[in-house]
Amino acid sequence: MRYVSTRGTTDPVDFLSASLMGLAPDGGLFSPQEWPRIARPNPTDSYVETATRVMSSFAGDAVPLDAIREMACRAYAPFAHQSIAPLVEIGPGRWMLELHHGPTLAFKDIAMRLIAQLYDYVLEQRGARMTILCATSGDTGGAAASAFAGSKHVDMVILHPLDRVSPTQRLFMTATGADNVHNLALEGDFDGTQAILKQLIGDEQFRLRTRLAAVNSINWTRVAAQSVYFAQTQAQLGADTPIHFVVPTGNFGDALACYVAAQSGLLNHYRCTSAVNANDAMARLISGQPLTRGETAPTISPAMDIQLPSNFERLYFEATSADGKTTGRNGAVVAKTYAELTARGSGAIPGDVSKRLGAMGLSAERVSDEQTREEMKRTLAETGWVVCPHTAVGLAAARRATNADGPIVTLATAHAAKFPETVKDVLGIDVGLPDRASPFASRPEKFETGPMTVDHVRKRIEQLIAKG
Ligand SMILES: *Cc1c(COP(=O)(O)O)cnc(C)c1O
Repeated sequence: MRYVSTRGTTDPVDFLSASLMGLAPDGGLFSPQEWPRIARPNPTDSYVETATRVMSSFAGDAVPLDAIREMACRAYAPFAHQSIAPLVEIGPGRWMLELHHGPTLAFKDIAMRLIAQLYDYVLEQRGARMTILCATSGDTGGAAASAFAGSKHVDMVILHPLDRVSPTQRLFMTATGADNVHNLALEGDFDGTQAILKQLIGDEQFRLRTRLAAVNSINWTRVAAQSVYFAQTQAQLGADTPIHFVVPTGNFGDALACYVAAQSGLLNHYRCTSAVNANDAMARLISGQPLTRGETAPTISPAMDIQLPSNFERLYFEATSADGKTTGRNGAVVAKTYAELTARGSGAIPGDVSKRLGAMGLSAERVSDEQTREEMKRTLAETGWVVCPHTAVGLAAARRATNADGPIVTLATAHAAKFPETVKDVLGIDVGLPDRASPFASRPEKFETGPMTVDHVRKRIEQLIAKG
């Protein structure tokens, strides 16, 4: 199994290199050179078993199957539900895929815990140490901090936008109690932190000197790990059932994982709607508008306050054409758009791409904060469930969908307790942290503030590593 860059000028690498590098040296993202054909799970297959098979297909012969099974067992042991990602019925033909049973109460635990296991496995084997950089709009940082806390082989540096994450999100990434986790709160927005991460990873000398890698949603292993719950959903709802997935979207990680599951044979006929808040880049891109570097608007679903969805690049790569007829994989077209974006703040997308995205089953729905609040109230009234605002964005978009042939499945991306301020404000309900999260609340928070500049972050990383 080899991985190519979406910008077409990096030599193909194996699974471990793609996972450890995060970003390709030419600035692109790694994608499989060819899609594996993975057999669909049986409805009774455990989550760990399916994760083992799926990850093994993407890893090729880079990691033995038994080692992957052990990683999956350890990664998912602390989950509060045996199904890891249980599917619950919320109405006739309507389901919610609950992805928030992990230690930090959001779906990012599912992939991040597996990545942490993979890194520990590889670094142990190589007797090496790494610095892992993570740019977060809120939930990735918590999941990463918790997954890597105490790792003997990793220094973790997290960048988050100061005052743009909820107090509970911040708690999960700053109160791990682990010495190997460092958190920098930078004055600016999430796109700024992501730009700094890309710049540092793209600086080869710095990357090699500090043994730097990225784990945000651009890491291929994350996308692969997230395709597992789509496969489990298909198995549970029936192998031939056409499913309409509705996915709350920010960086386009989960929605891409849905596409990846489909390309790998794990889904039957499917549709995938990206539900977005006022930061509606995915809706604009799917309708063929250019890639632009806009201002992020703060909303009540902050983990989705992203103007430049980084995983769009993988989808775009898939939807370009190498020869004008067949679909897929023209790295030069992708590179041109991103170069224009860097140079002029806006990168044009060829007209045929939007049509292909539609044909690939993809669409987007915009949901305002007002509609999100309404949905939280309606869901409580109809089902008794208290949902987080991100999940509510998905549920509001799902209400507009009709799937005459099969079920509509909305991803529940976080537990309501992760956003207690919004839940209190909208529903008047105090949601306490579930028991599994109480250790965080009893530890002190540890983070430092600073300017949103690449020089500042570069300097702090050098200093942290020097201290060892
Ligand atoms: C990260 C996150 C999202 C957005 O997911 P992407 O994969 O980045 O599109 C949605 N909801 C919650 C709660 C999140 O933490």
